[in-house]
Amino acid sequence: MADQRPNPLWHPFADMGAVDGDRFVVTRAEGSYVWDDAGTRYFDATASLWYANVGHGRPEITRAVTAQLEQLDAYHLFARTANEPALRLAERLSELAPVPGSKVFLGSGGGDVVDTAVKIARTYFVHIGRPDKTHVISRTQGYHGTHGFGTAAGGITVNAEGFGPLPGDFSHVAYDSPEALEAEIQRLGAERVAAFLCEPVIGAGGVLLPPDGYVEAVAEICRRHDVLFVADCVICGFGRLGTWFGIDRWSVRPDLVTTAKGITGGTIPLGALLVAPHVAEPFFTGRPGAPVLRHGATYAGHPVACAAANATLDLYERDDLIPRGRSLEKPLADSLSGAAGHEAVAEVRAGLGFLAAVELTPDVLAAHPGAADRLYRLLLGEGVVVRPVAKGIVLSPPLIADEPELDLLASAIPRSLDRLLSTVD
Ligand code: PMP
Repeated sequence: MADQRPNPLWHPFADMGAVDGDRFVVTRAEGSYVWDDAGTRYFDATASLWYANVGHGRPEITRAVTAQLEQLDAYHLFARTANEPALRLAERLSELAPVPGSKVFLGSGGGDVVDTAVKIARTYFVHIGRPDKTHVISRTQGYHGTHGFGTAAGGITVNAEGFGPLPGDFSHVAYDSPEALEAEIQRLGAERVAAFLCEPVIGAGGVLLPPDGYVEAVAEICRRHDVLFVADCVICGFGRLGTWFGIDRWSVRPDLVTTAKGITGGTIPLGALLVAPHVAEPFFTGRPGAPVLRHGATYAGHPVACAAANATLDLYERDDLIPRGRSLEKPLADSLSGAAGHEAVAEVRAGLGFLAAVELTPDVLAAHPGAADRLYRLLLGEGVVVRPVAKGIVLSPPLIADEPELDLLASAIPRSLDRLLSTVD
């Protein structure tokens, strides 16, 4: 039941005139389920916003956070100040990193570390004497957060409209074409290109899987042109693709890897950027006059966030959750076979990692404005939270979800699609 009281709270990405008085107020969460203010239980088929990978309400994280608040509630990481949870987290991430010996820069979320990655890429080239390498290429339909550089890099065009001039030296290439990347680098001149931003599986843009060979091909193109390959693994990390970071599903060596979300199961905001040793090197020489990265947020390396992350990593390890993102990919795709055959559905995208999209046909979308939102609401009525996107719905359940939850999807989605066709005007 929706909470009907008007409230000044302004929601991200929301038509507030429609939302105010029609909120979905979540009051409790446990495991793969959430409850609303009327006490109704729902399967959290999106793991909140792609992040509750370990499931909700894990007491191990609560205990670690509580203990950390009692021990050292907050302290910054600027200059030479550090704290134990941040040091431990950096060591663990560096050990797990796809490129051994990676350095770890901490931030407050995904968009924060995406912007950090762009700044590091550009300033790295300044410090190795190639200051013309400033251009950043990203992909159509990509999503890289809502900070300045991330907005400019984003490939969902409506998200960049209406904000005046965005940072310059950004361009986009077709998300599924390595040839388009090669052509864009040729057009600009490799001596001008600093970085290529790439979600291994595009998430918010509609769960777009890379064509076979795509990731290897773009990594090779970047290497050949001295363009830094930035893998944006904010969604793909922490088991979503069945590996620690997502990009390590492929045998490639990214220069920078952005992570957030599942790093703490979303319990406390945190982002972490892995920086391959050769990119970090100019900043770590110790020589007099060595460059200093004049960048970082107040909450970088917050001890409570890092304690939450360490406890979350313990859970991934102890419960062997990371490989589940791979072992569940076929069962998830199978659970959507009924949806795939439905007349309202153009395409189901699934089979690589524990995430999926159900895209409605152009006819349904044209005939029924708001069809994706309507489908989302019909599924709420079935006790399932999904996320509406432009052309359909996306799913990314907690890695602890299992057969009963997949069975629920298998029955609830086709039933809701039937209702969508019969009830829209
Ligand atoms: N990159 C990707 C791939 C994302 O999916 C997101 C968030 N959905 C971000 C960056 C931005 O993260 P945040 O919302 O934590 O700033």
